[in-house]
Amino acid sequence: MATVGFIGLGVMGREMSVNLVKAGHQVRAYDMRAEAIADVAANGATAVHSIAEASREADAVVLMLPDTPQVEEVLFGKGGLRENPPPGRLVMDMSTIAPTATRAFSAELARIGIDLLDAPVSGGPLGAKNAKLSIMVGGTAAAFEKAKPIFAGMGTTIVHVGESGAGQAVKACNQLICAMNLQAICEALALGRAAGLDLEKLREVLLGGAASSWMLQNLAPLMIRKDPSAGFRIDLKLKDLRLAGELAFQLGVPLPGTALATSLYLEARAHGEGNNGNQALYRVYDRMSNQA
Ligand code: NAD
Repeated sequence: MATVGFIGLGVMGREMSVNLVKAGHQVRAYDMRAEAIADVAANGATAVHSIAEASREADAVVLMLPDTPQVEEVLFGKGGLRENPPPGRLVMDMSTIAPTATRAFSAELARIGIDLLDAPVSGGPLGAKNAKLSIMVGGTAAAFEKAKPIFAGMGTTIVHVGESGAGQAVKACNQLICAMNLQAICEALALGRAAGLDLEKLREVLLGGAASSWMLQNLAPLMIRKDPSAGFRIDLKLKDLRLAGELAFQLGVPLPGTALATSLYLEARAHGEGNNGNQALYRVYDRMSNQA
């Protein structure tokens, strides 16, 4: 069992750090919000109040932060991990951030003998709570082998997908599939509702055929009930679509479907839905067809 520093105890990090405790690891939990630290400490982690303390004695430090600037700050800012490397010389960044930035961070840390893995996740808060996340890992094979027992406390599908940045590139692919799949379900429900269909029966029969998906299974019930709350936030989805769009632009790859889905999510945010779950995209269709 390992000693793990854990930085970023939000919606996802809270559950993931508690699962590491349950798996038998010593967790040193840090967040900029004192109440988040206290909550995880009440579940068996050691409360620490700086990055340096989180890193002390750690075999590895896990990051679960909002976006690229926060990861950069925790790695390279004053009092950050570059100044306070964990004795195990391993950092596992499970946040969703820009692939190009993670490659630059990894190269910078490699100079002082620290391995950085990019290891974003899919599965949402429920996957985090049940330790059933899908974890897509970029970095060296040696670092991946060291990190594997720690990842195993948080997820069930753990795949080394390539070199530094590959994990974040896979996550961009994941997110554009999710965004367009949700959009397709919104359209089907809008059409079904207008056609007077029983939407529960529509969903039931679609789940048994080629249109089945995780989104149809887990989020369509909320969409049918017109429940916009909870789940993966629209603001986070927009961040991920921006990251996918930036990568596509850098590589010169047209993503017309992603561009359309991004516009629809922007419409949702413009109507004050940024904190709603991403299934609230159905409300864009409600507005378009005067069903709101
Ligand atoms: P969140 O905003 O709930 O949590 C982020 C935490 O980081 C907060 O507790 C915040 O206080 C802390 N933090 C921010 N800057 C910090 C700093 N400089 N030092 C210390 N702590 C700091 O976000 P989340 O929903 O847990 O998501 C975390 C990451 O996981 C994001 O990159 C997100 O895209 C990704 N993700 C989220 C979900 C989801 O469903 N919420 C699913 C998959 C992936």
